[in-house]
Amino acid sequence: MLRSVILRAADDARVKSLVAKAPVSRDVVARFVAGEALDDAVRATGALISDGLRVSLDHLGEDTCNAGQAEATTKAYLALLGRLADEGLTSGAEVSVKLSAVGQLLDEAMAIDNAGSICEAAVAAGTTVTLDMEDHTTTDSTLRIHRELRRDFPTTGAVIQSYLRRSEADCRDLAAARSRVRLCKGAYSEPESVAFQSRGEVDRSYVRCLKVLMNGSGYPMVATHDPRLVAIAGALVRQVGRKQGSYEYQMLYGIRPNEQRRLAGAGETVRVYVPYGDEWYGYLMRRLAERPANVTFFLRALATKS
Ligand SMILES: Cc1cc2nc3c(=O)[nH]c(=O)nc-3n(C[C@H](O)[C@H](O)[C@H](O)COP(=O)(O)OP(=O)(O)OC[C@H]3O[C@@H](n4cnc5c(N)ncnc54)[C@H](O)[C@@H]3O)c2cc1C
Repeated sequence: MLRSVILRAADDARVKSLVAKAPVSRDVVARFVAGEALDDAVRATGALISDGLRVSLDHLGEDTCNAGQAEATTKAYLALLGRLADEGLTSGAEVSVKLSAVGQLLDEAMAIDNAGSICEAAVAAGTTVTLDMEDHTTTDSTLRIHRELRRDFPTTGAVIQSYLRRSEADCRDLAAARSRVRLCKGAYSEPESVAFQSRGEVDRSYVRCLKVLMNGSGYPMVATHDPRLVAIAGALVRQVGRKQGSYEYQMLYGIRPNEQRRLAGAGETVRVYVPYGDEWYGYLMRRLAERPANVTFFLRALATKS
């Protein structure tokens, strides 16, 4: 309930202006975002890799509505990949791309071209790309673009959101050899017609999807901080006889860092999703919506500083 209120409020221009301009937002953002500059992203990546973790970097931005901005985002990814290669970080770091940031909402062909350039640069740098999944109106287009990109770049990863009713079927389509699929619960406000609404239904769907992926021949990426689902993933790994390294856990920067290190210490591959850049508003609002305690933290900080 609170979650959908926050996600709906996030689209209101007045709320956006208030949150984006409040000095305290910077403090809260620092918990979830590595920084605004490329240097910040590279520094955070190096530190996580030295701690035995892997990284997926997200250059923040979404819902681009002009071609110039889509091209600028593409260039930012090319610069990022070049820098990661120069610093010798690409064996531990890949990139995550939101197709809406590279032109999906303007023209699917433009998004394919831009995302294709990023995939090409990733291959040249010795790493991979995962396509983030956004709201349900983009799911078909994103999976179509993913299929198209995989023709030339077969390691391109997809994201499936367990809150969508369609996801178990999508997992069946994707659980084939060499596919990389990140399974998450889903972070957008979605109508009941397409998405499960209760936590229990979303979690049960997550387990059904996970079973399909773990039993398939691809590479499952278990993206959740939920201790129960992490434990179920471990049990499934043992049940289907998967070896460590044939799947991975993924968590967000700043969320359950001790658990990230615990799993890595137990020999698991753990990848941290690291966002950076100045377009942090949408990302921050989704993180606040996930956990009421984050909103309290935000409001308390706002009250203390004002
Ligand atoms: C690597 C990665 C990539 C993702 N990519 C996408 C994507 O492409 N598309 C998409 O829709 N969603 C994406 N998400 C977000 C995801 O859909 C969920 O919204 C988010 O992970 C919270 O769900 P949860 O599985 O952690 O479970 P929850 O039940 O929400 O959380 C479980 C526990 O994790 C901790 N926790 C979770 N969220 C927070 C938070 N914001 N702040 C503090 N603690 C928290 C709390 O301890 C909580 O009790 C991604 C998540 C990860 C980890």
